[in-house]
Amino acid sequence: MFRTNTCGELRLTDAGKKTTLAGWVQRVRKMGGMTFVDLRDRYGITQVVFNNEIDADLCEQANKLGREYVIQVTGTVSERSNKNKNIPTGEIEIVADHLRVLNSSEVPPFTIEDESDGGDDIRMKYRYLDLRRTPVRKNLELRHRMTMEVRRYLDSKGFLEIETPMLVGSTPEGARDFVVPSRMNPGQFYALPQSPQTLKQLLMVSGMDRYFQIVKCFRDEDLRADRQPEFTQIDCEMSFVEQDDIINLFEGMAKHLFKTIRGIELTEPFIRMPWSEAMKYYGSDKPDLRFDMRFVELMDILKGYGFSVFDNAAYIGGICAKGAASYTRKQIDQLTDFVKRPQIGAKGLVYARVEPDGTVKSSVDKFYSQEVLQQMKQAFNAEPGDLILILSGDDAMKTRKQLNELRLEMGTRLGLRDKNKFACLWVVDFPMFEWSDEEQRLMAMHHPFTHPKDEDIAMLDTDPAAVRADAYDMVINGVEVGGGSIRIHDSQLQAKMFEILGFTPEKAQEQFGFLMNAFKFGAPPHGGLAYGLDRWVSLFAGLDSIRDCIAFPKNNSGRDVMLDAPAALDQKQLDELQLALDLKDK
Ligand code: ASP
Repeated sequence: MFRTNTCGELRLTDAGKKTTLAGWVQRVRKMGGMTFVDLRDRYGITQVVFNNEIDADLCEQANKLGREYVIQVTGTVSERSNKNKNIPTGEIEIVADHLRVLNSSEVPPFTIEDESDGGDDIRMKYRYLDLRRTPVRKNLELRHRMTMEVRRYLDSKGFLEIETPMLVGSTPEGARDFVVPSRMNPGQFYALPQSPQTLKQLLMVSGMDRYFQIVKCFRDEDLRADRQPEFTQIDCEMSFVEQDDIINLFEGMAKHLFKTIRGIELTEPFIRMPWSEAMKYYGSDKPDLRFDMRFVELMDILKGYGFSVFDNAAYIGGICAKGAASYTRKQIDQLTDFVKRPQIGAKGLVYARVEPDGTVKSSVDKFYSQEVLQQMKQAFNAEPGDLILILSGDDAMKTRKQLNELRLEMGTRLGLRDKNKFACLWVVDFPMFEWSDEEQRLMAMHHPFTHPKDEDIAMLDTDPAAVRADAYDMVINGVEVGGGSIRIHDSQLQAKMFEILGFTPEKAQEQFGFLMNAFKFGAPPHGGLAYGLDRWVSLFAGLDSIRDCIAFPKNNSGRDVMLDAPAALDQKQLDELQLALDLKDK
């Protein structure tokens, strides 16, 4: 047998047993006549000891081992005199009587221990070494357990796991596509799927009834901490359902994951917050509800006293930070700088402290009487010791978004965003469309296959911007972990949707004819949702970036620095594809 045990399993009860282990040398320490080796594999670390007095040759061999050598060791499990309570195998060691070097290793470019000395770039380049580190490996183990639980849950609800193709057609709506040239069809391109959206809808037309897939999706977007050019969705679709059926089933899945993976029993139904309320009170369609700090609108209270910034504003609103009246001038200046950063774009910040005697002292005292300031205090239910922070602007939506950033910043500063606390909700009743300044037309807020609310359909002709959709997102701790909608299953309504989105009938037919035609052959009412697996895993692992729960992620420029991809093609490949390059930026 190559090994009788793993490096994580032997305990004091095994003392006296003969064992053979195999793994990587994490560390070698010489002490007196003894050599200690920390032997590591996926399951843990076991201490192996070589005694010079018992076998000098063997000890000599052990002294030559370097970090990350791969070895096989045979010996006897013994009680350790110097116990290490921090690891499960810490009460024993293996007194070695045989050592075989299976492979040597160059000195690794960074230390492969829980705390590494390697920077981000070097660890990405040698990702296979980084993955030997326990904290990184644990994230992949968590990911595996989560996908197992997802499959278990969905299987128990009658879902079929069905694969859809990775080489599909390009869809102009949505993000930018990654495209793949076709050698057999010169000048033509496949696109990698941004999501299997239309395919899963076709599976409903096929009568599959309940579909899921844990599937790679590709979007050529600018990257952020919670975005990768390729990412994994738990993609689902169901027939003969209404919004409530989907929400209930997938809330059930969320609760199943919380229970089986984190041991957290969530018994209450998740809040369902209309989009308009989320925007009004939190300035975001993914509010972090671990803390309250709702917006209070102050237009009625603060307008008309000669403070021109407020008098000319389309929106004045604020938040109340409990107990933050003790903030120093310097801390307030930092907050002002924060909201003025170009990414946020506010012009300034007004603040007001509630003093111990209940009076309010503000940065705009010269415009407001104590009476007005007291009205404001009341609007927030503010108490002595609280700090009120106010933003205003000439674009209500923009100002709310700025106030959202400030709210999140204050939440962080006041320690209200504990990673081990979870606040889950559904945001529902999204608008069907949003106006795009860039495209100068309405765009689908979710996607063009989303069903408008029945009661709003009449407004499609008169006031499309006011139409709400049967669309819903699940949000946890301010992260959108999934979203979906009831779909259109009527070819005429689908055609109308494309018309509102600015497609000519010909263009709609060319791009989405396959779907509209399918709808003519008995399409059932259907709907679905996709959960972002990477976001779920990073939330459960408490990670700041989804990168850390992906085995081989891309960096912020979309590069795989380990594989050095993307890279140029050689001329032969280009010739086969009949492609010539005409690069603008050489
Ligand atoms: N395909 C959608 C998305 O990727 C999710 C859905 O509507 O099911 O966002």
